[in-house]
Amino acid sequence: MNENKIKNVETQYFQIPLDEVLTDAMHGDHTHFELIVCTVTCEDGSQGVGYTYTGGKGGRAIYSLLEDEYTPFLLDKDASQIEALNEQMQWHLHYVARGGLVSFAISAIDIALWDIRCKSLEQPLWKLAGGASDRTKAYAGGIDLNFSKEKLIANVQKYLNQGFNAVKIKVGHQDHNIDVERIAAIRELIGPNRKFMVDANYALTVDQAITASKAFEPYDITWFEEPTIPDDYQGFAQIADHTNIPLAMGENLHTIYEFGYAVEQAKLSYLQPDASNIGGITGWLAVAKLAKENNIPICSHGMHELHVSLLASQPHAGYLEVHSFPIDKYTKSPLQLEKGLALAPHTIGHGVIFDDELLRPYQINL
Ligand SMILES: [Mg+2]
Repeated sequence: MNENKIKNVETQYFQIPLDEVLTDAMHGDHTHFELIVCTVTCEDGSQGVGYTYTGGKGGRAIYSLLEDEYTPFLLDKDASQIEALNEQMQWHLHYVARGGLVSFAISAIDIALWDIRCKSLEQPLWKLAGGASDRTKAYAGGIDLNFSKEKLIANVQKYLNQGFNAVKIKVGHQDHNIDVERIAAIRELIGPNRKFMVDANYALTVDQAITASKAFEPYDITWFEEPTIPDDYQGFAQIADHTNIPLAMGENLHTIYEFGYAVEQAKLSYLQPDASNIGGITGWLAVAKLAKENNIPICSHGMHELHVSLLASQPHAGYLEVHSFPIDKYTKSPLQLEKGLALAPHTIGHGVIFDDELLRPYQINL
């Protein structure tokens, strides 16, 4: 591809309220999410939009990394060299920030550069990223630990009404019997044929997770996500040795090296990288390659409006998480399901086009 120098990077910061307070076992109450949007403009006039998000904290620091560190670094660099730039951005701040906020900042830039690549080649992302399909299996990921059992049931019923054939609920109560009661109620609601996942957001010790997983076994659980802290790969392996429920994680692994160690040690059955914090589309595809080499299905966490194209593109796709942070509602084409499958946009580019009118009320000038 022709050299195309980056001439401007504009970063915007938004705080978007949720319709209701959403709670999991470790992050407490979510009242809003943060969205950090980067628009990269090149010398030929082409533009790409990238973004990352948080559960409500840390976004200002990501904004600062983009404004104060990466914008000056990127000016006059060649936008077509995405993979090289991704690595250079890693090394630029590796000493102070490896795998942390920097992974979020790099992700926003990388996604913008992929948008430019797709536009210059006049392709939709699902084709350029692998092209296996334009649709993918999907599940609704609830953040619902604070919901009463009645409200939990109503919420999952809403997912079924929307056309989902797979659902996930939060677990991670210190008394696992509370989780079992909720799991039993949801399995009864969804019947025997729909997929059902649970997610503890790493709230449990290894021993607690083993006890809980044994109690969950009768309910045909597709995966137990983040039963214990994501750094404890050996702990994950111990849990896997004691249960027949497959284990999953990825949202808290923010470098390809962490995924490598996790695949070697943690006995995972599903990988769930998030392009908003694993170094963008480049990072996500690197994890997808690792998963394929190890015969593990690739899944995703969060930002379903972008991941739908990435999951669809991969022959070993597992399930797209349709996350409870509705970023897609602030775009011109919210996610669509057809027969339980999520449809990747055929738009040229990565297909996530923010609706400025909808976002404007939530912008905060920093
Ligand atoms: Mg999770």
